Amino acid sequence: MTRPYDPRTVDYDFGDRAAELRTRLRELIAQEIPEGYLGAFSEDPADLEIAQRFCRRLAEEGLLTVAWPEEYGGAGGSVWEQTVVREEMWAHHEPRGAQYMGLNWVGPAVMAFGTDAQKEQFLPPIAQGRVIWCQGFSEPDAGSDLASLTTRAEPDGEGWRINGQKIWTSYAEMAQWCVLAARVGAPGPRKHEGITIFLIPMDRPGITVRPIKSMLGRHHLNEVFFDEVRAEPDEVLGGVGEGWGVIRRALAHERVGIARYARCDRLLSALGEEMAAQGGIPSHLRAQWARALVAVRTARLLAYRAVAEAEAGSPSDATASAARLAVTQCDQQVAETLFQAVGERSLEAGPPGPLHGAIEDHWRYAQAATVASGTIEIQRMIVSRALLGGSR
Ligand SMILES: Cc1cc2nc3c(=O)[nH]c(=O)nc-3n(C[C@H](O)[C@H](O)[C@H](O)COP(=O)(O)OP(=O)(O)OC[C@H]3O[C@@H](n4cnc5c(N)ncnc54)[C@H](O)[C@@H]3O)c2cc1C
Repeated sequence: MTRPYDPRTVDYDFGDRAAELRTRLRELIAQEIPEGYLGAFSEDPADLEIAQRFCRRLAEEGLLTVAWPEEYGGAGGSVWEQTVVREEMWAHHEPRGAQYMGLNWVGPAVMAFGTDAQKEQFLPPIAQGRVIWCQGFSEPDAGSDLASLTTRAEPDGEGWRINGQKIWTSYAEMAQWCVLAARVGAPGPRKHEGITIFLIPMDRPGITVRPIKSMLGRHHLNEVFFDEVRAEPDEVLGGVGEGWGVIRRALAHERVGIARYARCDRLLSALGEEMAAQGGIPSHLRAQWARALVAVRTARLLAYRAVAEAEAGSPSDATASAARLAVTQCDQQVAETLFQAVGERSLEAGPPGPLHGAIEDHWRYAQAATVASGTIEIQRMIVSRALLGGSR
């Protein structure tokens, strides 16, 4: 489906193919994902295995990288079909687990910036659902101000030796590959110059992963240490010193690719149905509930605006950040509304709890959402700069 982008109108009809795709995805989820599944990152290793198996099943059906070009192992579908996949996955607690990262932005970054050999090496395993990537950008003193990162890549023969530390690296313990941002050469007056992206296997000697305990549970956050880690010239993505452009593109994809609004929508409807059977939503909560539904719709619309821009080329930083702002705030608003509706029973994790413990799980992740992928203040700054006439 291709339609000219008109920012003044909203067309919710993604076309027949997308509708069939949604139905097929729901069938597959019903077949493969147990009721009450809350994602891959629980204490139970079986949940991770379910996610890995599900990715392979989606790949076999051509549904994992539905909008990728066929030459890269995709199905040549539209970005709207990819949006349908994203919505159905997030609505069902992201049964693709950590692989969403490879599909969402690592693959597209390799397509945009990679050499032919890199595309051949890295894209098929992502499209086949066989590989987990992690993102080594943030450091203890370089989060919002990412351009001040200090992990260094020193020339060594034809390649480099990398030394430094990353932090908050999601899925580093289970990942096979890392998109690593390091500095080549001394920092100049423009801090982002010299930043270089390396594609490094996580089993390379000199890499140590240390999990960080957090309320997000096992697997999620880690520190990663690089001690004299060797990098080869063909492991640079996008050119030496050209990493900032790769990072910007990656983050714009990442910010749009997480359809948390779909989960919010599903949880509100599921709890709404349960409450309807018990006399309906209590009157003191109705206004809050309505505001939460409006937040969900707003987030969906802003996400669609970014998707429409992606269809026409690539989303601007500001459009991606506006979508991210709306999505993460709706996440928190819905989490609070669900908590208030159910009261202390929200804290009952697992199947005996309301919605199988999904409310408590959703609340925990919602708290982190306004920090991950750039904090809410940084997203606001990107949007403000664009509105005040700064860079796109
Ligand atoms: C769940 C989760 C997963 C993550 N996964 C990854 C990952 O896989 N890979 C990775 O590289 N990183 C990851 N991160 C790290 C994330 O990108 C950083 O936490 C984030 O960018 C903020 O950086 P920081 O923690 O250093 O905070 P800081 O940058 O130190 O910010 C601290 C506070 O100061 C505010 N602040 C800072 N600068 C400004 C400014 N100029 N104006 C106004 N306010 C400002 C911030 O908004 C924030 O409130 C993850 C984080 C979370 C929570």
